This record gives sequence, structure tokens and C-alpha cells, in this order.
Amino acid sequence: MASVPVPRLTPPARTMLRDTVYESIRQMLMDHVLEPGARLSIDGLARELRVSPTPVREAMTKLESDGLVAKRPHAGYVVAPLMDQVSLDNLVEIRLLLEPAAARRAAGNATEAQITEMRALVETMTAYPAGENYEHYRDFAVQDARLHRLIAEASGNPLIADALTRLHAHTHSYRRYFTVGIAAETTREHDQIVSSIAAHNADAAEAAMIRHITASRDRQREAY
Ligand SMILES: [Zn+2]
Repeated sequence: MASVPVPRLTPPARTMLRDTVYESIRQMLMDHVLEPGARLSIDGLARELRVSPTPVREAMTKLESDGLVAKRPHAGYVVAPLMDQVSLDNLVEIRLLLEPAAARRAAGNATEAQITEMRALVETMTAYPAGENYEHYRDFAVQDARLHRLIAEASGNPLIADALTRLHAHTHSYRRYFTVGIAAETTREHDQIVSSIAAHNADAAEAAMIRHITASRDRQREAY
């Protein structure tokens, strides 16, 4: 059958601008260039980024759902405070309820395609270049979140994946804390989880996920 070339769609300039503005502000928030608690002026940010206020306003809505900015009555947007130790511990507690169960279920339910994608992600994360600001670790953080989301999806219970997404756990912990050198340890832990899922070993997958989440909590505590 002759194939008809599909015309490539280029995104409209407006969408690109909106995404660029969102990424720029997100980077300033992750790197604490915009300090936790600070008031954000939409007009000021627009001037600084040399854009109109509209894409900045759109970015704020998205950043609010990411948990990075908050809307205050009469004050507009402020930079969300960093999570303190108690909040981070609460986050870990919820993750320990959701994710080991998800890994256990994924060992029974994951498709070959999902397992291939999990393996590819673990592989990509080993080739991670070291760096201390968000621009350098952004890809690692995004891939980490994607792997956990994929495992939750492979559980077969979409509510687990939704609940995990809404926690924005990776955004909060990477914003609070990132140290060069965690990549190798994290990758080893991820490899154990994914290998257990691939081997359809539910007990091992659950145990490996518990080890990974508690180990990353302990690494985070050491940084305090
Ligand atoms: Zn992880």
C-alpha cells in the first residue's frame, strides 16, 4: 500500500511562547532565583521575560497546579514555600502506601511494552551528566517522575496513577534537595524494581520499591 506523506504540524507560535515562558519561570522557581514566599508580579515577570502578561498568567495557572506557586487573596501569586521536613515525611508516608502496592500489582499486570519503556528509562538515567542547578538535573527529575508514573499505570488501577500525579512528589523533593552523586544509587534501586516487575516477582517488586522510597528519604534527611 502506498503511503501518503503526513504533513508535519508545527505548533503555533503562541503555544511555543507559552511553554517557553512556563519553563523559564519553572526553572527560576526550582533554582530558588524566585525565593520561597516571595510575591510574584505578573507585569514584572512579563517585563523581565520581554513578553506580554498573557503567557505569564497562563504559566501561573499551570505552576499553581504543579504546587510551585500559590494564589493568595488580595496578594496575587506568591512562590510556594519549600516543604519542611514534616511535609516531606508526610509525602513519603503516602508514597509508601501507594507505590509498593503499585509495584506489586505491576509485577502481575505490566505489559511487555510497559516493561520495555521502564527499562529504557532506567537506561537513559544512567547516562545522566552531573550538575547542580535545575537545568542540569531537570531531565533526570522528569525521567524519575515518569518511571514512577509508568509503574503506577502498569498497576492496572488508574486511580493510583492519578493520586501519585497529584502529589507532585518529585517536584517537591527535587526543589528542596538535589545532590550530585545520587544518580548512581537511584539507578541501582530503579533497576531492582524494574527487574523484579519484568520477572513478575510481586514480593520482590514491592520490597524494592519500599527500599527505594525509604533510601531516597534517608538521602534527603542527610542533606538537612
Ligand atoms: Zn525513583
